[in-house]
Amino acid sequence: MGAGRLSFQLRALKVLSADLAALRIPLLIEDAQDFAGCTETLLKLVRQHQISHMDFIEEYPYNERLRDRSVSRALRRAGVQVTRHVADTIVRPGLVKTAAGKPYTVFTPFYKRWINQAFEFPPLPGIEAQSPVRIEASLVPEKMGAAAIADRADVWPAGEVVAGARLREFIEDAVENYEQHRDIPALGGTSRLSAHLAIGGISARQCLWAAHNKAASQPEYATGCHKWITELAWRDFYRHIAAQFDHINKGHAFRLELDRLPWRLRVNDLSRAQDSPAAADWHAWCTGHTGYPLVDAAMRQLNQTGWMHNRLRMVVAMFLTKHLLIDWRCGERYFMHTLIDGDFASNNGGWQWSASTGTDAAPYFRIFNPASQGEKFDPNGEFVHAWVPELRPVAGRLLFKDRGKWPQGVDYPLPVVEHRLARQRALEFFKQKGWGGGLSERG
Ligand SMILES: Cc1cc2nc3c(=O)[nH]c(=O)nc-3n(C[C@H](O)[C@H](O)[C@H](O)COP(=O)(O)OP(=O)(O)OC[C@H]3O[C@@H](n4cnc5c(N)ncnc54)[C@H](O)[C@@H]3O)c2cc1C
Repeated sequence: MGAGRLSFQLRALKVLSADLAALRIPLLIEDAQDFAGCTETLLKLVRQHQISHMDFIEEYPYNERLRDRSVSRALRRAGVQVTRHVADTIVRPGLVKTAAGKPYTVFTPFYKRWINQAFEFPPLPGIEAQSPVRIEASLVPEKMGAAAIADRADVWPAGEVVAGARLREFIEDAVENYEQHRDIPALGGTSRLSAHLAIGGISARQCLWAAHNKAASQPEYATGCHKWITELAWRDFYRHIAAQFDHINKGHAFRLELDRLPWRLRVNDLSRAQDSPAAADWHAWCTGHTGYPLVDAAMRQLNQTGWMHNRLRMVVAMFLTKHLLIDWRCGERYFMHTLIDGDFASNNGGWQWSASTGTDAAPYFRIFNPASQGEKFDPNGEFVHAWVPELRPVAGRLLFKDRGKWPQGVDYPLPVVEHRLARQRALEFFKQKGWGGGLSERG
């Protein structure tokens, strides 16, 4: 977990502490050194306060599952009544199964079954905001200041009331156009609830029901609401995968036959490979200096705000893994360090989708052209201009092509790799034998 997400979580706890204090309930925060240490820490607390009941919300990555099991057993042995709750997902992992009783590994059939079960669990009521809370919708750097932004309470306010207000605001103002706006980074047409969802600051069930009720009461909102519910389903899907396929929790590719691809830079070599060309490419990607305007704008948005738009997460992830042939695990790690919404299951799922190593992933020959992505999703260059100031002199329509027509004196790097060559290299890379694979055109 990165510092941005940690500080967001600590701020949320502060708010929770105040909310509970108003109900005369103290909030105790206990430190444990690691997952295994949680059991002893909680046993101590139980003895100290003569606790008879413990309620907790299950979590599904591997270490969290072992922790939950160990804590439950130990506390039950100590005479405590333990109740586990499902609140991190909409449907509990393990309940959405194929006819053969197996977990789904493809999203669409998963979704068809999931949606029939999703409404069996109404959410608990949340706290109502006393006064309306409005959150700055535009994420442009002038309004935000510079680095360390993820730490700032004014940019990322935390707590249940704020999250609830953000949900209401999104459902009232933006969900109607979600389907049309969700892929245009300059529009800010998505909910930006991911950071709250990642730390349990709002429940996915609350989100589901808010969208469902809106669609039921105002059918003109139904398309946007249903599209948004599909995104919540992706969140559940990746959590179900993490809960049911242990190997992805241990750094392996979902498709084990693609676990040892000969990447130019592997995650284990990150600290050692200082002077190689691949290390230089990695550095250019991390800092937003690849010479591809959309990739660079996206990486700078991430580095300066702790958040990145979903379309751009796919673009930069494919660029790292397919244009630069750098191990998806490097990017996964970088995202976890920088994202305010860093979340193991969604992050791992997104990276493995982009690298074509995951469950229901993009086929290996699907390689986004960053220039075409720019023309399609930032046609006037508003997003790039906001984040890459040195490109402001270049007209939006020229940003992604016609570099020869750019005005003189624009101080911007040449592309680290040429798209056509990179595409060819990636196709050969994924098809080559020797690492135990060699993919067919069907991916
Ligand atoms: C390479 C890569 C890495 C990612 N890493 C993370 C991560 O660490 N944490 C994270 O929360 N999301 C991650 N995502 C998914 C997605 O990009 C974000 O959830 C989304 O951009 C958050 O913005 P939002 O809240 O405005 O989303 P909205 O469009 O408003 O969607 C609502 C909610 O649905 C969920 N959601 C939306 N899209 C996805 C998706 N593709 N996969 C899983 N859940 C989704 C999120 O919880 C999100 O908050 C990643 C995607 C990719 C391609």
